[in-house]
Amino acid sequence: MGTKGREIVGVKLDELLKLLNKALSDEWLAYYQYWVGALVVKGRMHGEVEKELSQHAKEEFEHAEILAKRIIQLGGTPVLKPEEWYKLTNCGYDAPVDPDTEKLLLQNIKGEQCAISTYQKLIQFVEGKDIVTMHLLIEILEDEVEHEEDLEVLLEDLRSFK
Ligand code: FE
Ligand code: FE
Ligand code: MG
Repeated sequence: MGTKGREIVGVKLDELLKLLNKALSDEWLAYYQYWVGALVVKGRMHGEVEKELSQHAKEEFEHAEILAKRIIQLGGTPVLKPEEWYKLTNCGYDAPVDPDTEKLLLQNIKGEQCAISTYQKLIQFVEGKDIVTMHLLIEILEDEVEHEEDLEVLLEDLRSFK
C-alpha cells in the first residue's frame, strides 16, 4: 500500500494484522465446513439445504479473499499454512460428522453467530480509525447477518413440516 494509505490507519498495524489473520482463518474454516457440509448433507429438505450451504461456501471464500487482499495492502502476509487456521481461529471448526439437515443447520447457525460477534468487535476496533478496513468489514458483517437469517428460516421450515 502507498505511504499515505498506510499513514491514515490509526490503529496499531501489528494488532490489526493479527486480528485480520484470525478472521481470515475463520473464513477458511467456515468455507470448508459449508463446502463439505453441502456434499454430505442428508435428510429432509436436503436439496434446499445443500443449495444454501454451497452458496454460503462461495461467500465465505469471497470473505477470505477480501481479508487477504486487505492484509497485503496493509503490508502484512496472509496466513500461509492451513495448520495456522486452527491456532488463530475465533470460531473453530465444527465437523459435519452427522450429515442430518437439522444438525448441519444448527452447527452452521452457531458458526454464523460467532462470526457476527467477531466482526462486530473488529468493526469497533477500527471504527473511525481505519475507514477502509471498516468498510470491508461492514460488507462482510452484512453477509454474515444474512447467512444466519437464511439458515434460521430453513430450520424453521424444516421443523414446521415435522
Ligand atoms: Fe464469512
Ligand atoms: Fe457466513
Ligand atoms: Mg444465503
